[in-house]
Amino acid sequence: MITRFAPSPTGPLHLGHAFSALTAFDLAQAAGGTFLLRMDDIDRVRSKPEYEAMAFEDLAWLGLHWPEPVLRQSRSEDRFRAALTQLDALGLIYPCSCSRGDIAAAAGAPQEGVPEFGPDGRIYPGTCRGRAMSDLKPDDAIRLDMEKALAKGPLPAFLEIGPEQPGNHVLDPDAMLRGIGDVVVARKGQAAAYHLSVVVDDTAQGVTLVARGMDLFDATPIHVLLAHLLDVPIPDYHHHRLIRDEHGKRLAKRDDARAISKYRAEGATPQDIRAMVGL
Ligand code: GLU
Repeated sequence: MITRFAPSPTGPLHLGHAFSALTAFDLAQAAGGTFLLRMDDIDRVRSKPEYEAMAFEDLAWLGLHWPEPVLRQSRSEDRFRAALTQLDALGLIYPCSCSRGDIAAAAGAPQEGVPEFGPDGRIYPGTCRGRAMSDLKPDDAIRLDMEKALAKGPLPAFLEIGPEQPGNHVLDPDAMLRGIGDVVVARKGQAAAYHLSVVVDDTAQGVTLVARGMDLFDATPIHVLLAHLLDVPIPDYHHHRLIRDEHGKRLAKRDDARAISKYRAEGATPQDIRAMVGL
């Protein structure tokens, strides 16, 4: 078993991150497997070396260990480009020049029973669909044509071993078309967007079990579909419940009040952190 914790170094790690990292570590330990740390630093603007250094320090303090060197997604560009070439050869991607404002305007007024947002944000109305990749401009993003991608059946399934939605989940094409739509696989100026980058690097690292929060459960069909299209193994998944603040809101990066480093500074022990997240 190979598990991983893959933070984006865009802020201090908080209790939610501690829960994900400890879960991934414990699952690997229990199976005699390997726990990996990866830095998901494709966002060059928001990723900061100081947050990366803090993450290493916090995780080591929690008692976690991992093989060095850790993989940094900022060094994975060749792999991302190769994956895009593969998707292009299948005729499944197209350039998109729409801004958020363009997308909101083209989507028009919400209609009853039609979801407006999915795990990749506002469901894309399809304005640029049909543009050829040969027409790709430096300022374009790249999207997956979901309808064409779903036609590359038979559709795969994934095994969820977490406590919330355990079992085998077969991808549902109608739900993915209506509730997710044409996701971004590369952002303007970046070699890949989140969904593609995790699939490519989880594959490169031989990850067999992805442990992370339930906030990413709805994005998992996108990852499983991309793995299927790229013809790489589909890992198992363990999505854990979310750590919430006293108002019931999921913790966010800017939630410095619950940063691991703050608890450390106040004299908490790693065992205290485990207890706080319910482990
Ligand atoms: N880098 C992602 C994040 O910080 C996590 C990736 C994943 O677990 O799939 O949200």
